[in-house]
Amino acid sequence: MDIIQQESIHTLKALTQSAAKVAVVGHTHPDGDALGATTGLALALLSRGKKDVCCVFSDTPADNLQFILSPEVTYLFQDRNAEKAEACIREADLVFLLDCNAFDRTEGLKDALEASSARKILIDHHLNPDRSRFDAAFSTPEISSASELLYWVLKALEWDVTLPVGTALLTGMTTDTNNFANSVYPSTFRMASELIAAGVDRDALLQKIYSSYRENRVRLMGYMQYEGLRLLPGGGAYMILTRDIQRRFDLREGESEGLVNVPLTIGAVRLSLLLKEDEGHFRVSIRSRKGTSAQALAQRYFHGGGHENASGGKLFIGPDIASPQEAATFVENALKDFLK
Ligand code: 5GP
Ligand code: MN
Repeated sequence: MDIIQQESIHTLKALTQSAAKVAVVGHTHPDGDALGATTGLALALLSRGKKDVCCVFSDTPADNLQFILSPEVTYLFQDRNAEKAEACIREADLVFLLDCNAFDRTEGLKDALEASSARKILIDHHLNPDRSRFDAAFSTPEISSASELLYWVLKALEWDVTLPVGTALLTGMTTDTNNFANSVYPSTFRMASELIAAGVDRDALLQKIYSSYRENRVRLMGYMQYEGLRLLPGGGAYMILTRDIQRRFDLREGESEGLVNVPLTIGAVRLSLLLKEDEGHFRVSIRSRKGTSAQALAQRYFHGGGHENASGGKLFIGPDIASPQEAATFVENALKDFLK
């Protein structure tokens, strides 16, 4: 693959050979791609004989994604054990950053990464990577997922893609493309085809990803589409998941996944936002049709970024809006301005 430079492959090989302790770090609120890619890389390193490998995240993954975690791998979550998570980064002599373009996407782990003198390697598919921080950077937005990029890196390294590694990577690619709905390239089908031929059980994966939710999620999806959806002239749509609604449906992390895509099934909608109220801010998920930039909206109004058609950010209570009740007006004004 021409997106993978031989020079970076040589650097990765050399740094991996000489490293004694490796930290594999993914982005905050890890999604299926972050978990699949970090798990796949940790398993690959372990099977190459590396003994001291840990995956580090700022927060514990949602319940519905826990199935991606491998019993062979050590995971450290800063929200559970900050001391251990930060020590792993501090003591590592090689750090991989996966599925994020900059240290600040790891939120609470940013300081530990900045203080670390370890050699660093980036494997990512977001826009605007902070390349200056890394000894080698595999980064392209022209790929489905970090999991797919890692698959081609492993191939270029001529490392074995074992069944557990392949399963983790197919999971990450499947969730990031929303089961082959977006960001799919010829290479994506090639990867899937090779992995299925090698024995990865895609049916079992689909069952775990898309058919293992609790009843409340289906009811919440219905409620938000019926009561919560707001459509604006110009093709904007938004929904706000307030604290009240989250309580009413006993919503857990990960259970509103996919809701932001639903308004885009309406022909006239080209931009969809989901705001989820959190401590002191709203988390903002943005999806757009080709030709409209979710990334530009995230960057301009929500301190965020991501991909051209799938981005995210935050709306802070205090700096951005005086109270949670003002979120709707803020979004309507932003969309009016952005879509004009
Ligand atoms: P989601 O809406 O699924 O949480 O995120 C969609 C995409 O936007 C992901 O690729 C994610 O990395 C990116 N993203 C989400 N939140 C943020 C954020 O706060 N800052 C930046 N820069 N990117 C984000
Ligand atoms: Mn990703």
